[in-house]
Amino acid sequence: MAQDRDIYLDNAATTYCNGEVFYAMQPYFISNYGNPNSVHQSGYAARDAVEKARAAVAKIINADPDEIYFTSGATEANNWAIKGIVWASPIKRVLVSAIEHPSIIKAARWLEKQGVEVEYIKVDENGIISIPDLLAKLAKPACLVSVMTANHEVGTVQYINTIANICSKNNVYFHTDATQALESVSINVKEMDITALSLSGHKIYGPKGVGALYIKRGTNIDVFMHGGHQEKGMRGGTYNLPAIVGLGKAVEICMRDGNSNNVRMKQLRDYFIKEVETKIPGVKLNGHRNQRLSNNINFSFLGVIGESITAMLDTMGIRASTGTASTSETLNQSYVLKAIGVADDYINGSVRFTLGRGTTKEDLDYTVNCLMTVVKKLRTVSPINLKAGGENV
Ligand code: PMP
Repeated sequence: MAQDRDIYLDNAATTYCNGEVFYAMQPYFISNYGNPNSVHQSGYAARDAVEKARAAVAKIINADPDEIYFTSGATEANNWAIKGIVWASPIKRVLVSAIEHPSIIKAARWLEKQGVEVEYIKVDENGIISIPDLLAKLAKPACLVSVMTANHEVGTVQYINTIANICSKNNVYFHTDATQALESVSINVKEMDITALSLSGHKIYGPKGVGALYIKRGTNIDVFMHGGHQEKGMRGGTYNLPAIVGLGKAVEICMRDGNSNNVRMKQLRDYFIKEVETKIPGVKLNGHRNQRLSNNINFSFLGVIGESITAMLDTMGIRASTGTASTSETLNQSYVLKAIGVADDYINGSVRFTLGRGTTKEDLDYTVNCLMTVVKKLRTVSPINLKAGGENV
């Protein structure tokens, strides 16, 4: 069964590189390999390619091109946003949501060790930020609020417009990590008054190892990487030219095809949710039912361990995950599911399926069938299920 199947349902971990993107990048390895900082024809051609990509990235969020800074990915962009703003501000206090990606949470914890006051904004059972908690925490001055546009594990999409508005009224910078959301959520940094935004190439069918930080013109933010004159001296280091070209192309494709991809994916997502909920007992959908990414499904199966499910599905040709790629190797419980108040029994049995541009209904039918078999089998042997008192949950 497994040999002829390779169903990739882990698109939140990474996506394949789109063919158009790959072909757009190719010449920049082999023939147009100039250094964008060189002052000769090779350099000028490379510079033009970087600026074209910058304009594309700016356009998708309605920023100006000079507000886009290329980075090595969203991890770097997030680290830069939070550390750079705190370093440049006399107010050493930041607010971040409790369900941010580790690149924000761990950076925040590090800042705490440096004496910065960090507070974690509460979320409700669907993963939506508590506005009363945000407002209460804003009663004391802070230099930055960071809330992700959409969550990487449960797919909940925040009302970032409202959050940005509150920050603007309170004279606090607002950063959002839009890494998972770029294709599904329309973002207008000018209208929403967003101070900074992170994005990444490999979540939108672009190359790995490239991303960008949008920084609103006039923002007080410190240099992240001391080095050459690149990125106005704010982020030194020779440009990763082919990757930047690839990011630009990936963003252009998002703008061109995003709407139709989202409509198709939402239908598949809702179909999959309905199928699983009707055919498998003892299942809980994590995250918000509607206010969620069009490609994200996160289920908890009572009485089984998520890692056992994903391992068995893998042998059947289905690639899924229990959470973030970076944390799923350790059996630590998901801090995201904990923060949204999911009970321990359910946290342990969580599996994330993230659909992609290539996912078909047939893939999902096969996956549902395999899931029924796997969950049933595991429930008959699982000590935690037997302890919970039944094999037919
Ligand atoms: N933020 C979110 C929400 C993510 O999902 C990820 C990737 N898992 C990152 C940041 C880090 O992105 P990158 O891999 O480009 O460093």
